[in-house]
Amino acid sequence: MIKETFSPEETFAFGKELGKNARPGQVYTLIGDLGVGKTVLTQGIAKGLGIDEAICSPTFTIVQEYHTGRMPFYHFDVYRIGCVEEMDEIGFDDYVYGEGLTMIEWANLIEEILPDHFWQIMIEKDLEKGFDYRMITVEEVGKA
Ligand code: ADP
Ligand code: MG
Repeated sequence: MIKETFSPEETFAFGKELGKNARPGQVYTLIGDLGVGKTVLTQGIAKGLGIDEAICSPTFTIVQEYHTGRMPFYHFDVYRIGCVEEMDEIGFDDYVYGEGLTMIEWANLIEEILPDHFWQIMIEKDLEKGFDYRMITVEEVGKA
């Protein structure tokens, strides 16, 4: 599925739809360059889950948990992990195979420990289409 947006508000709204449609146990990965809109989309997803508290990037904590929505929301940013073994230490599998929605930024860095089935979300710019243009691609990976 491809969604084109032309403002942060539209990206937020698309995230909100994703959050509304999310099911417990799903895993989303999120790929895109710095400043492309990953946090904007994540804030929308949280809103769609019914989470009203502020969402910030979990840059120094690897994972940020939110428990005030209709299911738990686990927001990972694995950019700063040293090696995948570190993910075992924080109990990665308990999140991924748990009853919440797991969202992983920079998931390509931990490819070998990703579950067999997840949804990959990629956000890209195209300056020819304008400074605020974003193309958001959602792709199911590893469907049985
Ligand atoms: P990231 O988390 O990927 O580093 P952010 O979500 O923090 O990026 O920032 C995205 C920036 O791009 C924000 O300043 C936002 O206002 C701006 N922006 C402009 N157009 C869009 C769009 N269509 N979708 C999302 N963000 C946009
Ligand atoms: Mg961000």
